Amino acid sequence: MLVDQYDAFLVDMDGVVHVGDSPVPGAVDAIRDLRDRGKTVRFVTNNSRASREALVEDLRGFGIEANPDDVVSAAWATAEYLAERGVQAVSLVGGEGFAGMIRDHGIAVRDEGVDAVVVGHDDTVAYADLKRATQLIYEEGADLVAANADGWYPTSDGIAPGTGATVAAIEAATGAEATVVGKPEARLFEIAMEGLPPERTVMVGDNPQADLVGANAAGIDGILVTGTGGDVDAGDLTSIDMTPVAVVEGLDGLF
Ligand SMILES: [Mg+2]
Repeated sequence: MLVDQYDAFLVDMDGVVHVGDSPVPGAVDAIRDLRDRGKTVRFVTNNSRASREALVEDLRGFGIEANPDDVVSAAWATAEYLAERGVQAVSLVGGEGFAGMIRDHGIAVRDEGVDAVVVGHDDTVAYADLKRATQLIYEEGADLVAANADGWYPTSDGIAPGTGATVAAIEAATGAEATVVGKPEARLFEIAMEGLPPERTVMVGDNPQADLVGANAAGIDGILVTGTGGDVDAGDLTSIDMTPVAVVEGLDGLF
C-alpha cells in the first residue's frame, strides 16, 4: 500500500484538505487514518496571510485537530527564513497576520531603515504600498523577498490576483528579482521537513507546478491528488518535468 512507503506526509491544504470553506470528502478520515498508523502529518500551504493559529482554527472547522507546529505556511516559513539570515527589519506589503509572524521572530516591521521588502497576500494593496517598496529597494538597497509567487488563487467568487501579481509589479518597477520562499521553491519544503527523513517523506498536493515541482526541488517524492475540484490546473502533468510516484483521487487513495 502506498501509505506504507512513507513515515511523514506533507499535505497541501487548499484543494486537498479543503476547497474554499468545505472539507474535501474523505480527507478528514484519511488524516485520522494516517495518524492512527503513527505517521507524521504536516500541513504545507502557500498561504501568505493567515497566522498558523488561524490556519489551525480552519483545520478544526473542517474536523481536523492540529497544533500550530503542524502547519507550515509560506508566511511563517518566510519569517523563519528571514530570522535564519539575521534580518533585523523589513517593510511588509501584506496583512496583519503575516506582520505578527515576522515580529514573533524578533524582526521589526517598519517603513524605513530595512534590510528587505517582504511581500505576502494583501487584498487591500495600494499604489502607495508599491511606491514605498520600490523606493526602499532603490534608495536603501533592500532585498525583495516573497512568501510565494502565485499569480492567482481561487476564491468563492472566482479567480483573484495572488501574491505573485504584487511581486511582479515591484519587480517591474525595480528590476529586482524576488527570493521566493513558498512552493515550488525548496525553501518551504526544507523548513517543513525539519527532523524528517527525506527518503521516508512525501508531498501530497493537487497542483503539479507547486507541489510536485517543489517536492522534486526538495529531493522528496510527490503524490498528485486529482478530482477534488480545487485547482484549475489539477491533473495537468504535461507542463512539468517530474513524475509523481502516484496519482490518487483524494487522500483516501493513499490507502
Ligand atoms: Mg492546492
